Amino acid sequence: RYQSLPYSRVLEIHKQHLSPVETAYFQKPLLLHQGHMEWLFDSEGNRYLDFFSGIVTVSVGHCHPKVTTVAQKQMDRLWHTSSVFFHPPMHEYAEKLSALLPEPLKVIFLVNSGSEANDLAMVMARAYSNHTDLISFRGAYHGCSPYTLGLTNVGIYKVELPSGMGCQSTMCPDVFRGPWGGSYCRDSPVQTVRKCSCAPDCCQAKEQYIEQFKETLNTSVAKSIAGFFAEPIQGVNGVVQYPKEFLKEAFALVRERGGVCIADEVQTGFGRLGSHFWGFQSHDVLPDIVTMAKGIGNGFPMAAVVTTPEIAKSLAKCLHHFNTFGGSPLACAIGSAVLEVIKEENLQKNSQEVGTYMLLKFAELRDEFDIVGDVRGKGLMMGIEMVQDKMSRQPLPKTEVNQIHEACKDMGLLVGRGGNFSQTFRIAPPMCISKLEVDFAFEVFRAALIQHMERRAK
Ligand code: PMP
Repeated sequence: RYQSLPYSRVLEIHKQHLSPVETAYFQKPLLLHQGHMEWLFDSEGNRYLDFFSGIVTVSVGHCHPKVTTVAQKQMDRLWHTSSVFFHPPMHEYAEKLSALLPEPLKVIFLVNSGSEANDLAMVMARAYSNHTDLISFRGAYHGCSPYTLGLTNVGIYKVELPSGMGCQSTMCPDVFRGPWGGSYCRDSPVQTVRKCSCAPDCCQAKEQYIEQFKETLNTSVAKSIAGFFAEPIQGVNGVVQYPKEFLKEAFALVRERGGVCIADEVQTGFGRLGSHFWGFQSHDVLPDIVTMAKGIGNGFPMAAVVTTPEIAKSLAKCLHHFNTFGGSPLACAIGSAVLEVIKEENLQKNSQEVGTYMLLKFAELRDEFDIVGDVRGKGLMMGIEMVQDKMSRQPLPKTEVNQIHEACKDMGLLVGRGGNFSQTFRIAPPMCISKLEVDFAFEVFRAALIQHMERRAK
């Protein structure tokens, strides 16, 4: 076992020298020492099944042997040049990544994080359209930089400081929480018909949400807009899915007003959704700009923006885009290895098969427990929304969600949190998991719910 600072000292240092924001995910924070594929090990040697992949980031497995070997070899050869110099890993990677995107999305800009990628996409949209206003959904998370904070609209990440000039938010067509329902018309193996009588699932849900979208376009200053950002499935907001066909109609409305459409694939890309490599393909739309990060590097900091030659040219007219670390030899070698592993190990297919199995299995909990309001998602991206009861759909109080979360961790299962009220469990394991591990996760999660119901009954 790797020996480092004692746990008590780590807590002290964290308190004194690291961000005071509530970053400790658990009441008793985890001190992690080692990872292997879907497993993590803490300072005491306890093992955890990682069903959140370091926030949807470890795509092919912690310390995947092939990715690690490639990184080690590249470190011996050349780490850094900065992109003004050419080096083969960058060109090899650009060829590999662009082959995975449809025409005309063929020009790649390499950066280091999702926020940077979306910052650049914001500039591109404005440079190309010659308009200013950008639209995003309420509940969206597109980054934490001063520019992208204007697009981010969810829970604790919504800032009370001036940010994001020219950014407008629009109603999220959330088919579970939204006023018109429509859960049955989302793209998921799991459908819900809401129980409450006040707002039954409406067969016209998509049209109602589109009307809201039009209202944003028509009544705001955004009559001619620069662009519209959407995650194919919202991650931080708790794996929120839109009605089928919504994005298709929304994209057409945006283009009618001179704007471009941006798909934020930071969480949904690289095969995680199973049926397709990119989330936008599952909506049958073709964006003008695609941003990607997290899973692209399996945990190594890298990100990319992919766009059309026309948009890339218009950017070049107004911005000499430069990024010191973007596209470093090390990042590109790692990115290439990740793409190879996804292909060699059939991980997209695994996401589809194991993900569908997982969704159908966890949906049983919705029938068993009144506090499980919704189970949804696609492939290996699942949200479990906790409510006080199915009739009211009021979010389960944070303190109660915390207890279930902590209980899962204590039994060896790590899951994520999300949603405007932190009411949704988010599950997005590395894409290498098997059905056996889903069974383990299911038993642990169910046991945590049973414990909770007993606590509630006392
Ligand atoms: N877009 C989405 C959809 C995200 O989930 C995130 C990160 N949670 C970002 C952008 C920003 O990525 P980063 O943290 O790498 O800046």
